[in-house]
Amino acid sequence: MTMASDPKIIPQTGLLSAEANQAAALAAYGGVLTVDLDAIIANWRRLEKTAVPAECAAVIKADAYGCGAEQVARALSKAGCKNFFVATIEEARTARAAVPEATIYVLSGYFQNTGEHYAKLNCRPVIGDLNELAEWDVFCRRTGWSGGAAIHIDTGMNRLGLTLAEAQAIIPRINAGDHGITLVMSHLASAEQLNSPANAKQLATFRGIASEFSGVPASLANSSGIFLGPHFQFDLVRPGAALYGVNPTPEADNPMQPVVDLKARIVQTRNVERGEAVGYGGTWTARRPTKLAIVAVGYADGYFRAAGSNDGTRGAEVIVAGKRCPVAGRISMDLIAIDITDLPPNAARRGHMATLLGEGITVDELAHHFGTIGYEVLTSLGRRYARVYKGGNVVEPLARPAPVAAAAEPPSPPPVEQPPGPPPLPG
Ligand SMILES: *Cc1c(COP(=O)(O)O)cnc(C)c1O
Repeated sequence: MTMASDPKIIPQTGLLSAEANQAAALAAYGGVLTVDLDAIIANWRRLEKTAVPAECAAVIKADAYGCGAEQVARALSKAGCKNFFVATIEEARTARAAVPEATIYVLSGYFQNTGEHYAKLNCRPVIGDLNELAEWDVFCRRTGWSGGAAIHIDTGMNRLGLTLAEAQAIIPRINAGDHGITLVMSHLASAEQLNSPANAKQLATFRGIASEFSGVPASLANSSGIFLGPHFQFDLVRPGAALYGVNPTPEADNPMQPVVDLKARIVQTRNVERGEAVGYGGTWTARRPTKLAIVAVGYADGYFRAAGSNDGTRGAEVIVAGKRCPVAGRISMDLIAIDITDLPPNAARRGHMATLLGEGITVDELAHHFGTIGYEVLTSLGRRYARVYKGGNVVEPLARPAPVAAAAEPPSPPPVEQPPGPPPLPG
């Protein structure tokens, strides 16, 4: 295990052995979140293999779905990933620092006065509206920037993207050459439902319009879209959730490896009499002489309150000493009570760690108890865990066909004029 490099996270006392030092540092936290970078790499390779000959990008928005954009981008770049998608320019800044050579697309697109950020960071806006395109063109003309942009076309989701008519209107520009469009893309609304008729409809629509963007690489599939078959894969696939262990095929077994392990410290064990109530509101009553373990993670850490239990309804389970044990009562802000009565005496003691995620408890299982999807479980992972990164030291990228959608030689940033309006952000 390597510890996160932030010295705040792992203070070095200089007085203890490396192991004791690490143990002491971890003891400062209620929970320990371990992100397995090797599992993320294995998942990326799995998706890449499924999509070949399409290129496989990585979506690392929202801090790589809570897993750490910097660490994930670096690991995947070493594994051979050349295209990254983020949501905002600020996320692009983080990504750019981690992967200086990669192609980075920003899904939220172009706003006025953001051109210089794109030029400075050498990233590409995903343009989903004709106003954006016009403003982007003005910026490029004014500065000579030619770093490229993606065009997002709406094929049925009605969120972002040009309408079909708008997309048609820019075909002459594509045919005229030197258009600065490096990717044409759309997004599937129901990819995780294998049999949704929306998939075939979006595919047909996208196929038609993308074919008119001659010479421009095309991209449609997110994680689940990759598993809808080769027709959906085009030149570039854009998985996010599956990289981080969420099941992209909810109707079948999960082909991905688990990535995140979350452990919480047992801060107390206690015995309660039959008939006693546990936790806020006293919603859970001991039906027998009961032993509880109280662990130091709660809803403020992203362990949703919805996972609690009461006398009528079971909640989530936690693994203590290798065995699944039920949550007892409501989830507090910083604490969870677990019924460990069925464990052998002394199997769980103060200071031991209980597993909230991992050892067979999947992101999707937790999502079920939280009343949400794996995506929200991951992006809600708390900020006060000790974060530990495992693996990620790849050397050999897989041999693969020449990239289709990878960056051409990035043009050097032009001398950027100060635009009117607010001053550029630092950095
Ligand atoms: C978030 C996002 C993705 C990744 O989706 P997953 O379902 O997490 O694989 C791909 N494309 C776009 C446009 C997105 O917004």
